Formats: sequence, C-alpha cells, structure tokens
Amino acid sequence: MRAAALLLLASCAPEPVRCVTTCGVTIVGEAVDCAEFQRLEDELTRRLPITNACGRLDSYTAVALPGRTSTHEGRSVEGWSDCAWRAVYFHADWWKPWRTAFVHELTHAVQECRTPLPVDEGEDIDHSDWTRSGVGKAVRDAQQRFIDEDNGLNPKP
Ligand SMILES: [Zn+2]
Repeated sequence: MRAAALLLLASCAPEPVRCVTTCGVTIVGEAVDCAEFQRLEDELTRRLPITNACGRLDSYTAVALPGRTSTHEGRSVEGWSDCAWRAVYFHADWWKPWRTAFVHELTHAVQECRTPLPVDEGEDIDHSDWTRSGVGKAVRDAQQRFIDEDNGLNPKP
C-alpha cells in the first residue's frame, strides 16, 4: 500500500517549469530555448485568423517531451493536444524549436480542438478546416519565418 502510494506520488511529480509565455502558456519538461518558443508563439498568434488567439492559450500547459516521436493513440506522433486538460505535448529533440510540433499543437489549442465538418480536401479529420479557415497557412507562414532566418533570408529581430 505504501509502495503504491509512493509510486503514485512519483508519477504525479510536477515537471520543472521552463518558461511562461506572454499568452500564458507554461512550458514544462525538457529544457527549451524560451526566447525562441516565445517568438514562435508570437509569430503564430499574430497570424492565426482566429479572434483572441493569444488569450485562448491562457493557462495552457505545454509539455516538452524527450526524443522526437512517441506512440499516442496508436499512431507515431511528434505531439498531441488535450484541450479538456488545457495541455499540449511536443517532442523537443528537434534541431530547431520551429521544427517541433509546438506551433501545430498550440493551433489545436486555439481552436479548442474543434474539427468542424466537412473535411477539407487534402486534410484529415483532425485538421478538417485547416485549409478553408486559413489556419494551416498561418502555421506554415509562422514556421517559414524561422526557416528564412536559418537561410539568412530574413534577419532575426
Ligand atoms: Zn494536428
């Protein structure tokens, strides 16, 4: 009984807080470059065609996981969202912060994990409206900002 209780406590031990973004996302878990993740949040939220995108993220937790992928609900993924618990998960061991699933999962959070029908051509049920809503373009454009910087096309602010 005591062992079980201790195990339970150990599994509930809080992950170390790494940063809290200006939109109110607490990043916990693996060490991350907080300044770069802040910039990712900025570049995403100002592009998303959704009212109060930043405010919708308030009190979310983003869990930085080790490695690059894991199996979640039977699929190999780089991250996932759990809007009911106001949490997103992303594997942090990619070469640049923009390459992680962070902005992708934050987008699900801003959308409150809603997947309105119909499913756009070329999308799946989890991203049903990402084409017609312009959300997918906002995600790609936000990431492109950083890719351009890596390529020396756009100076880092
Ligand atoms: Zn997704």
